[in-house]
Amino acid sequence: MSSVIYNGNEYITRTPLNEFEGFMLATAASGAILSPLAYAGKPFENQLKREEVNNKIYKDYFTRALHDSGLYDKGVRIIPAQYSLVNNDYKLGKNACYIPKSNEVVINTDKISIAGFHELGHAMNDLMSKYGVKYLAKMRGIGYAIAGLMEYFAIFSRTKPKGAPRSFTDIIEDNCGKIAFIGMLPIVAEEYIASKRGLKLAKASGLSEPLINNMKKLYQKALLTYGGRAVLGGLAVYASRKIMDLFTRPKLAETSQSFINFSRN
Ligand SMILES: [Zn+2]
Repeated sequence: MSSVIYNGNEYITRTPLNEFEGFMLATAASGAILSPLAYAGKPFENQLKREEVNNKIYKDYFTRALHDSGLYDKGVRIIPAQYSLVNNDYKLGKNACYIPKSNEVVINTDKISIAGFHELGHAMNDLMSKYGVKYLAKMRGIGYAIAGLMEYFAIFSRTKPKGAPRSFTDIIEDNCGKIAFIGMLPIVAEEYIASKRGLKLAKASGLSEPLINNMKKLYQKALLTYGGRAVLGGLAVYASRKIMDLFTRPKLAETSQSFINFSRN
C-alpha cells in the first residue's frame, strides 16, 4: 500500500482496481441519469407527426414568412429535404436545421413545415439580431464541447487528498457539473429565442390562431428536451465526479486519525 503525507497526515492512495470500480459505477450512474432523455423527445415526435395533416397550410405560410421576414432578401433559402438522395432524419421529416454557413434551411416541406418557422427564427438570430444573440448561436459548438470536456474531467482519478490546495484544473474538476450545465445554457437560450421569433413570424404571416397554438405547444416540447439535456447533463457529470471522488481520492489513514486524536488530548 502506498501513501502520501499532507498536512502531517498520512493518506492511503487508491489502487487501479478502485479506479476501475469508480469508473464503471460513474458511467453507469451517468447513463441512468441521462436515460429519461430517450423518452423526453417522444411527445415532441408524436405531435410533429400529428401536425402533418395540416402541412399544406403550414407550408404555404412558411414560404410566405421567408419572404415577409426579409430573410429571402438576405439570401436565406429553403432546401426541401424530401428530394435528398441521402436517407436521414431530414429527408424522413424527423428533424430540420438552419445552416449558418450557407444560409439554408434544410427541411422536409412535405411533412414538417410547422418546424420551419423555428428554423427561420435561427436564421434571424444569425442574420438580423442585435445584442449578441448571434453569438449565442456561435457558442453552440463551444457549449457542446465544454459539456463533453466536463464529462471527461468528471472521470479523472483524484490524486490529491480532500483539503489539499487546489490548482486551476482541480477547481474545474470540483465544479465540472456546474460548468457543463452553464456551457449548455447559451444553446437553450438561443433555441428559446428562435422559437419566439418563429412564432412571431407565423403570426405576422397570418397563420390561424389554432395552428399558432399547436405550434406553440410543439415548440415548448422541443425546448423542454433542450432544457432537460442541460439539467440532466450537468447532473450526470456531477454524479460521475462524486463517485470518482469516493473511489479514487486518497483516504486518511487510520493511524493518522488516532494520532490527531491523541495529540489533541
Ligand atoms: Zn433549433
